[in-house]
Amino acid sequence: MSATLSHDVLIVGGGPTGATLGLLLEQFGIDTLIIDKEAAIYPLPRAAHIDHEVMRIFQQIGAANALAATCRTTSRYDFLNAKGEVLMRFEGTDQIGAGGWPVANMIHQPALESVLAERLARARHVSMKRRWKFKSLEADGEAVLTRVDTPEGEAAIKARYVVGADGARSTVRETCGIAFNDMHFDEHWLVIDAIVHDYSRLPPVNLQICDPERPTTCVLMGEGRHRWEFMIKPGESPDDFLNDELIATLLKPWNVEGAVTLERKAVYRFNARIAKEWRKGCVLLAGDAAHQTPPFAGQGLCAGSRDAANLAWKLAAVRKGAPDTLLDTYQPEREENARALIEFAIMMGQTVCTTDKEAAAKRDAQMLALRKAQPDSNAAPPVPPIAAGIILKGSVKAGSYFPQVLGEGADAARLDDVLGPGAWLLTREKVDLRSCEGLRVPLRPATLGSAELSPFAAPLHAWFDNHGVSAVIVRPDRYIFGTGGPVALIKAWGEMIA
Ligand SMILES: Cc1cc2nc3c(=O)[nH]c(=O)nc-3n(C[C@H](O)[C@H](O)[C@H](O)COP(=O)(O)OP(=O)(O)OC[C@H]3O[C@@H](n4cnc5c(N)ncnc54)[C@H](O)[C@@H]3O)c2cc1C
Repeated sequence: MSATLSHDVLIVGGGPTGATLGLLLEQFGIDTLIIDKEAAIYPLPRAAHIDHEVMRIFQQIGAANALAATCRTTSRYDFLNAKGEVLMRFEGTDQIGAGGWPVANMIHQPALESVLAERLARARHVSMKRRWKFKSLEADGEAVLTRVDTPEGEAAIKARYVVGADGARSTVRETCGIAFNDMHFDEHWLVIDAIVHDYSRLPPVNLQICDPERPTTCVLMGEGRHRWEFMIKPGESPDDFLNDELIATLLKPWNVEGAVTLERKAVYRFNARIAKEWRKGCVLLAGDAAHQTPPFAGQGLCAGSRDAANLAWKLAAVRKGAPDTLLDTYQPEREENARALIEFAIMMGQTVCTTDKEAAAKRDAQMLALRKAQPDSNAAPPVPPIAAGIILKGSVKAGSYFPQVLGEGADAARLDDVLGPGAWLLTREKVDLRSCEGLRVPLRPATLGSAELSPFAAPLHAWFDNHGVSAVIVRPDRYIFGTGGPVALIKAWGEMIA
């Protein structure tokens, strides 16, 4: 066995959650090692969509522009019945969302992971080892000793914290004996990614075809690709569905022969479940290791990225002297958000995965009647604000998401690029900065009337006016700590992260 390596944080799993967490920790200067058992990025079909909030997280780690160059957008997400009637419709998915990026960004997950890998290769505080496989860990309350298999033999890594970002079948989770709460919605589907030669023959919007004969998904992906998914019905054998002749038959009604070439195919079974504990001492879980969702809302990778954003600043604060109990706020803050999105995906999935003709006819009648009564498109997912954790309870908008406003003009700047990473104190008037000294998590102050904020003055003033506040503290993950008078706010921030 080689000598024991030492790091502040060890991340097991270099998928999107682990890589994003590592890149966020890089910004806080936290010495981090990421290990992944695979030699290369996972090649099979997975995420096709990320939302505006997650693009903002990628913006923070310098990955958004490279990723945006590979993304496509579309104006609608439609749920149609077998006759082509609209059962449910989400419009405006190509518009700019609160995160300052399009509401829905259609991606190719390996392209996203390549962008993250390229950023990691340039990191100074974070390194990544491939073909390093987690085997076991021992924790003593102060640190974790992890044993891994490497191509050169076994290695031991000592770290203050270990984050299991090792996916749905997480060995870290199993080693810690953490069980799931199962929300009992799982089905087998065939997924096909295709290379596009002729976009004019493909639907320009995202579709769920709620046909009981064969529930089907047809969505855009990143530049140059398109995706179909077909439900494998009860009684059918998943193994039969990887047959190219059967795939050609399934694609026939789409009339895309010559317009696309099949690139990748896989049969997968989705789940809806949430780990009971996301922290056990010095070990934390993130991403699919902590929760799994059916794919209909396109939120699995998104939820993992939000975990990373929540965890990174807290791990950094604790490494810089904040109490370790700060990490106890991670699960209460994140779980309700993840659960709401899983429930939303289950609602969508139950609409789509109906294979009983009578039940489908009943569903159609109910949903068509509802749309007739309320013809507007459906609202965005109902995501609750943070209700417990590092927020100033009772203050206006505490726990809500702080929007990334855009500057005016063709080359509109984004607020985060101007203010940078970390926590912000935004005030109407200048404040005495001495009260910000000595904070465990420093505040980056900015005044609405300042030259640096002048491109954003109108939307920021409108936000302050709408909520009747004179100051806001925005946490590093861009959720609002609280609002109110600046002096009281700074005091509360200091006390909560003392
Ligand atoms: C068909 C399909 C469609 C999807 N569509 C979407 C979508 O549109 N939008 C969306 O947001 N999400 C979507 N998802 C979900 C998304 O792909 C996952 O949520 C995301 O990949 C989870 O990222 P992760 O980093 O948490 O886990 P993973 O991507 O699974 O990464 C885990 C990593 O850990 C490594 N690892 C595992 N065990 C060990 C070990 N013992 N030692 C070292 N390393 C280890 C693995 O090699 C892997 O690299 C979809 C998934 C599927 C299957």
